[in-house]
Amino acid sequence: MASVKNDMRLFSGIAMSPGIAVGRLQVVDRQSPTVEAYSVEHECIDAEIERLRTAIEQTRSELEAIRTRLAENAGSDHLIFIETHLLIMSDDRLFSESAAIIESSRINAEGALRRTLHKYREFFAGIEDAYLRERISDVEAVVERILRTMTGQVQAPISAEHGQTIVVAHDLMPADILQMDKTRIIGMVTEAGGRTTHAAILARAFRLPAVAGIDDVADLAYDHAPAILDGSSGTLILNPDQATFRRYLKLKQRYEYNEQALLKSAALPSLTLDGHRIELKGNVEVPEEGAFVLSHGGEGVGLYRTEMLFMNRLEMPEEDEQYRIYGAMQQAVAPHPLTIRTLDAGGDKLLAGIPLSVEQNPAMGMRAIRLALAMPDEFKKQLRAILRVSISGPTRIMFPMISGLEELRRARALLDEAKEELATAGLPFDKDIQAGIMVEIPSAVTLADLLAREADFFSVGTNDLIQYSLAVDRSNEQLAPMYQPLHPAVLRSLRRVVEAAHLAGIPACICGEMAGDPFFLPILLGLGFDELSMNATSIPRVKQMVRRCSRERAAEIAHACFSFATAVEIEAFLKQQIAIHFQTGRE
Ligand code: PEP
Ligand code: MG
Repeated sequence: MASVKNDMRLFSGIAMSPGIAVGRLQVVDRQSPTVEAYSVEHECIDAEIERLRTAIEQTRSELEAIRTRLAENAGSDHLIFIETHLLIMSDDRLFSESAAIIESSRINAEGALRRTLHKYREFFAGIEDAYLRERISDVEAVVERILRTMTGQVQAPISAEHGQTIVVAHDLMPADILQMDKTRIIGMVTEAGGRTTHAAILARAFRLPAVAGIDDVADLAYDHAPAILDGSSGTLILNPDQATFRRYLKLKQRYEYNEQALLKSAALPSLTLDGHRIELKGNVEVPEEGAFVLSHGGEGVGLYRTEMLFMNRLEMPEEDEQYRIYGAMQQAVAPHPLTIRTLDAGGDKLLAGIPLSVEQNPAMGMRAIRLALAMPDEFKKQLRAILRVSISGPTRIMFPMISGLEELRRARALLDEAKEELATAGLPFDKDIQAGIMVEIPSAVTLADLLAREADFFSVGTNDLIQYSLAVDRSNEQLAPMYQPLHPAVLRSLRRVVEAAHLAGIPACICGEMAGDPFFLPILLGLGFDELSMNATSIPRVKQMVRRCSRERAAEIAHACFSFATAVEIEAFLKQQIAIHFQTGRE
């Protein structure tokens, strides 16, 4: 979408990575390699298949060489993206399915590979969850790399001709970002992509402002054009006029000042005015984010969503691979604790490796712990990998979507089996590893007193708890006004969970989005939660609020909230209290 004022043009896209970049554009052509599909004679089929095999092997060697180079220059933090591509390549199906097409359709290897990619694209397009849908970008990156090898269309790393460069491209691959010259490149704009692609995660990890989803920008933009990129609002301004230019320079200064100030205070202890400590941790999905959590003042990871490792592939990851990745995450957050949530798949998070039947109501279907318990061997692989990691640093296990005691007991029994298996194999692990549950189903709230006797900690998944308590689909934009974290039913649930946890002597945490909004902090603190886990970027602001609050005052506010009967009333009251006591409005 674009609006024009003189020759200044304004484009709105998806805010992929926050921050403001003021510089000049450089359009890079990262379009797919041009590939021709043509039919081949019967006697050439074997040769085509061989050509495909050789190209895959050669591409794998290239990727391994990049991995070695990156490990030497940039450390191992960002290698997971290359590892992911290597893993996709190690899956024989890309080869076997393309080889079958060469044979059955008698076409060349490039054409067959393209058809295989098309099939995967269709599969991924049918996935509802945006995060999983976007994982097709990794498969595309791999196929493109193979096609380039076959056609000799080699792509050099993006280099910038001048400093303050904002790169414009149709799409950027994780490898592009890893290899680009980040001393000169200060921002990125793409036509494709979204907030949860690997490219977006890397952009945020490297603190590069980025905007995605601007149609045709690679055609409309031109080299050296002056531009402003606002990765926080998802805006690109081409040829800014003087007034806009000056305004954004000021905004950039203010943004950077605020970030610096927040980051400086991020390292301060998470203590209230009356000396009460509340632990703030990060929610992560890939090891790259671990360092980000620490630099933003997090004291470990309260929710490691392990789903990412299971996606984008047709076979489930083996125990050793899981062990390596969890170990990388642990190293990234050491010496702080790491809470690993076992696979929370199913529902809208479909995995290619687990064929599930189509469900009428996937949000209430075969998912999370139910799915794990239905495939105990796979589940135990994950448990063993987590246990093996637990010997090298503080690690906790967390089971998602526990609805009652039976599930918790069955999960724990499998954990015991996994321990026995490791003991028999002579592999060390933390025998006293803590195993807690996510409280995100209303029945778990109702049974909180019973569950608290058998779980080592509670972590409330408010995203799902609100959805299930109010019967409001969390992803339905039309219902957004009804998705009310301050609904009295939700607050009563939160109170019940903390009380049950503390009565049983176990910690009560929150790892849903509610934890990352400083507006809710007085209530969560006042209710007595021990730990909040959130997106790393939210930690400094929540910590600032913690340090402005006294627990006594927060308890009074929380208590008073229960005298209101509706979310609207509670919100108005909370706004007023925050304005009076904490000299800040809602941001
Ligand atoms: C939640 O439900 O609040 C939660 C943290 O888990 P997820 O968002 O992964 O469902
Ligand atoms: Mg959840």
